[in-house]
Amino acid sequence: MKIAVLTESGPETRVAAIPETVKKYAGLGATVAVEQGAGEQASISDGDFEAAGASIGSRAEVLKDADAILCVMGPDADSISRAKPGALLVGALDPARRGLQVEAYARAGLEALAMEWMPRITRAQSMDILSSQSNLAGYKAVVDAASAYGRAFPMMMTAAGTIHPAKAFVMGVGVAGLQAIATARRLGAQVSATDVRSATREQIQSLGAKPIFVEGVAGIEGEGKGGYASETSEEYQKAQAELVSGHIAKQDIVITTALIPGRPAPRLISDAQLATMRPGSVIVDLAAEAGGNVEGCVAGDMVERHGVKIIGAVQLARTLAADASALFSRNLVNFLAAFWDKESGAPLLPDEDEIVAAIRLTRGGQLVNDRLKSAQ
Ligand code: NAD
Repeated sequence: MKIAVLTESGPETRVAAIPETVKKYAGLGATVAVEQGAGEQASISDGDFEAAGASIGSRAEVLKDADAILCVMGPDADSISRAKPGALLVGALDPARRGLQVEAYARAGLEALAMEWMPRITRAQSMDILSSQSNLAGYKAVVDAASAYGRAFPMMMTAAGTIHPAKAFVMGVGVAGLQAIATARRLGAQVSATDVRSATREQIQSLGAKPIFVEGVAGIEGEGKGGYASETSEEYQKAQAELVSGHIAKQDIVITTALIPGRPAPRLISDAQLATMRPGSVIVDLAAEAGGNVEGCVAGDMVERHGVKIIGAVQLARTLAADASALFSRNLVNFLAAFWDKESGAPLLPDEDEIVAAIRLTRGGQLVNDRLKSAQ
């Protein structure tokens, strides 16, 4: 089995293998060919990959006879047209937004596997790229907020007087939100947090933060399938808006992470609520790419409204390229190793397996994924 690792293009900084995973693939009996410069932005040189046993080459060289192609973002289908039909293409292929490219992968005979559609089951936790990258994004959101904030986070008692601790509010307590709470606490902020899923209340408390929850609105908890949230009722949204209005005016830092799979991000902060915040406050909206939790948020930019800085964060894991690549690469090797068939020296991906059925998009020239087909 030959595994090719691509150099990413555009704003992408990460790489889909690191020397440690190259060695793991070798241990499984595979050879790894890394495209020149693939690890450069993640502080991994071609020499580091070679020392781990990989060969280095041009894209055409690494693709030649490759049985699997590893990438972070899905490559343009034209750029891998020399790939062998039947080869696996494994990465964050973004099938929801890149339907035409997925069709092109099918025409090229590739077996495309979209790692972001990994089901949320215990067996797949170590393969979950959304979790590994969200965790880093939650950390970086707080670091970016601290950097844009014209004050300090921790309480400081100095000879020149006392600096009061920043008040940070985390909205949406999934993987990113939990890491944001932990990071803000470590920096010395007073932290509160909210979510629609009641299970998060205890998690918030266990991190030393204060839970802020809608109370007394029965039967409309936004508990969806597989640990995800679903849309809440109008009654709940009204109660939540009132709760936020009362709380947000006292906050210096707000990190929003609320997402609902397959839907635009829920609007959690209105312009009128922003106007009640103290000038100089900072909001980082991690849902910016999905439409934003904050009114007026611009994805990929920082805007100022009523003296409040709103950072529309996009793919923050990219700004931590070395760690993000390491976690992403381990997710990929964990997936491929779990399905490795010793006899054939390659992964065996059974149709009926829950993981395979969820992430396999194309095979034998066809679209084979139910979720993808139902979205067409
Ligand atoms: P996500 O990125 O889809 O959403 C972020 C958070 O926003 C979620 O906690 C969600 O409940 C919350 N949210 C949605 N609408 C909201 C609203 N209107 N107001 C406030 N909050 C709102 O979530 P995620 O980070 O992917 O994690 C969701 C859950 O899945 C977590 O419990 C996580 O531990 C679990 N998980 C399980 C596995 C696994 O078992 N393999 C892997 C990853 C995550």
